[in-house]
Amino acid sequence: SQVIADDDIAYIIHVTAEMAPLAKVGGLGDVVTGLARACIGRGHKVEVMLPFYEAIARDQIEDLVAVDSYSSYHRGEWVPIQLYHGNVSGVPVLFLEPKSNRFFKGTAIYGGSYDDELEAYLFFSRACLEWMQITGCQPDIIHVHEWQTSAVAMLYWDMYHHLSLKRPRLVFTIHNIEHFGECRVEQLDMCGLDGQSYRSIEKAIDERTVGHNPERLSLLKGAIVYSNAITTVSPTYMNETLCSGWISATLLKYRSKYSGVLNGIDTVMWDPAKDPYLPFNFDAKDLVGKQFCKHYIQRGLGLEFNQVPMLNPLTFSQNEKHTPLVVCITRLVPQKGIHLIRHAILRVAELGGQFILLGTSPNPSTQSEFQQLANHVSVLFQVMLLKLLLHAHTYFEALAHMLYAAADIVLVPSIFEPCGLTQMIGMRYGAIPLVRRTGGLADTVFDVDDQSKQDCANGFVFDGLDEGSLSSTLERAMSYYQQRPDWWLELTSKAMELDNSWDKSAGEYLSLYQSVRVR
Ligand code: ADP
Repeated sequence: SQVIADDDIAYIIHVTAEMAPLAKVGGLGDVVTGLARACIGRGHKVEVMLPFYEAIARDQIEDLVAVDSYSSYHRGEWVPIQLYHGNVSGVPVLFLEPKSNRFFKGTAIYGGSYDDELEAYLFFSRACLEWMQITGCQPDIIHVHEWQTSAVAMLYWDMYHHLSLKRPRLVFTIHNIEHFGECRVEQLDMCGLDGQSYRSIEKAIDERTVGHNPERLSLLKGAIVYSNAITTVSPTYMNETLCSGWISATLLKYRSKYSGVLNGIDTVMWDPAKDPYLPFNFDAKDLVGKQFCKHYIQRGLGLEFNQVPMLNPLTFSQNEKHTPLVVCITRLVPQKGIHLIRHAILRVAELGGQFILLGTSPNPSTQSEFQQLANHVSVLFQVMLLKLLLHAHTYFEALAHMLYAAADIVLVPSIFEPCGLTQMIGMRYGAIPLVRRTGGLADTVFDVDDQSKQDCANGFVFDGLDEGSLSSTLERAMSYYQQRPDWWLELTSKAMELDNSWDKSAGEYLSLYQSVRVR
């Protein structure tokens, strides 16, 4: 890490609903940990404030100690809180535990009714600021994420900044614009703000409800209006949100404080050369271990060819070697292109390849649809409710690592994708991405046949939402795999050597922090 002058050291507090690995549901948790760790690595001071969910495994926290007890306002009462401090993946974390209400209880991170969750996060948002106010802790930057902690921006500028918090400036990151943070006026009242006063187009009214009765607020919109800087997780997704969608007019109005910064991946956790989950390790210069991983998964999941006798597990037939293995690791929700995934499963089988889907679906009909499909094709399908994912975390995590290592192609046919991590993880493990050109996928994957992008060519890209566009690109990728083995190996090494680490993106966040902080 480089040496930085004292007055350039920034003090950043993330206020967030998720943090990997102990409270991770989706990409948000990965972003907070990865970004925090990279900023600490560059010499800055970073802390994370997180609800102390009952579901958190306390043994994953290092040096956990109770530090403060205090109270915060909610719904006409002062709720007692116990604050703990601990370290997670090298990042200092403050865990906030309400003592006298039901918030953040249960076996899952999310899972209450929407109203309960909304109330819990409004309480949490205020309680974080209340702690800063009481202790006199004044970071340069309060970084808030998604709708859950959006209310911090309004609470800060309309309440705590008039008390004694003067120094902090607010950075807000949108991870998914479809998470509106719908909120009724009287719900915002619960945290002590005057909900009615936010019911205007300039403030927090949800633009989708204008003209309807009753008009709702959107916490996400409130944070857009009230933050000093807004970011989203890729440049292309930023442009997409400016061009269309429910909040594009407001984002256009605040265009000058809005930017798109690509997420990185955690290159320590995702490292094929050292990954403890892999039966064989490998790197860009020596891909033999990758072949072994593929073989291991093929045999382990019963995808081996019947005619091959089970000899030494380290020998494999030419057939196995030359059969492309396509992998898709995803939540099975409409955003991820369910109809395209279904089509790809059939098409890959028809073209003589193999397909492994590791999917989780919150929807029983999607589950049974894929189960039926699985009865016809060689598909591994994990039927798990989304909220069960954390319980089965180790199992899923290990399997995901092995599948990236085994795959020749990783499929990401999303309808929209703010950033996407799976294509970047895939590349690091030598799985060539085949993606739809949208959001962060368009910023990280460049087609091998795109003459204008030859320097950065690293995968296969299609545009349409129809099955035809996907099909022709799949056919192209699979035929290159089979007909140009040496070229494919070179492509694999090149993809593995790309730098998609947090270090690069953290530099952009730090410039942004420096540009808005008070000197
Ligand atoms: P999103 O946050 O929308 O789910 P991302 O691509 O940003 O999508 O992040 C997905 C992360 O979750 C990746 O680390 C991926 O490996 C992991 N993941 C997704 N689905 C599963 C699953 N069914 N089992 C294990 N890991 C999964």
